[in-house]
Amino acid sequence: MLNDFVNLIFPSTCCGCKKLGHILCPSCITKLRPHERNTFEYISTVACAGNYSGWLRSALLGIKEGDARAMPALVKAMAVAWQILPVANLPAAIVPIPSAIEKIRVRGSDTILKLSQGLQRELRNLGHRDVSINPILKLNRVVQDQVGLDAIKRQQNLQDAFSATARISGTVVILDDVVTTGSTLNEAAKALKIAGAQKVFGISICG
Ligand SMILES: [Zn+2]
Repeated sequence: MLNDFVNLIFPSTCCGCKKLGHILCPSCITKLRPHERNTFEYISTVACAGNYSGWLRSALLGIKEGDARAMPALVKAMAVAWQILPVANLPAAIVPIPSAIEKIRVRGSDTILKLSQGLQRELRNLGHRDVSINPILKLNRVVQDQVGLDAIKRQQNLQDAFSATARISGTVVILDDVVTTGSTLNEAAKALKIAGAQKVFGISICG
């Protein structure tokens, strides 16, 4: 009721095509190209909502700079990507990649945790109630920003960078905003396997 009223006064604008009426319109949802990436040692499948281009890229850059307006549309895009995971309908725990504390300070909040919470809500709205959030990953040390590093340097930069603060079992899906070489997700998956996870998957906006 309140949402209907708010929508009447401030109609939603599609994050993709700017048309009024939807946060992400049906046409822009069908234009998404969700795809799998499978070349990682410790992680089975990573589902990405699309390539790092177009509105996905600009919306992602926006939330990284603290502009949260595109968050609901990005969450919807990730829910589309979720459907291509082999465990899409099974119980799973979302484990957010920990944002470095200084990034949280710049953005004002933990974007990856917020995306995880949004995705859990969206999946629940779609009828998938057996998804929990388990933020047990922590960074063991300060890591260099990955931007500008090649694949080998990225791997070295992140080697054993993560550990889990608690045991975990069953299926986990690690959430990160962008997958490039996959070093971050792979190192995170390694830590979760050591902590007891049986199957590790990944979900991402762009990759
Ligand atoms: Zn649209």
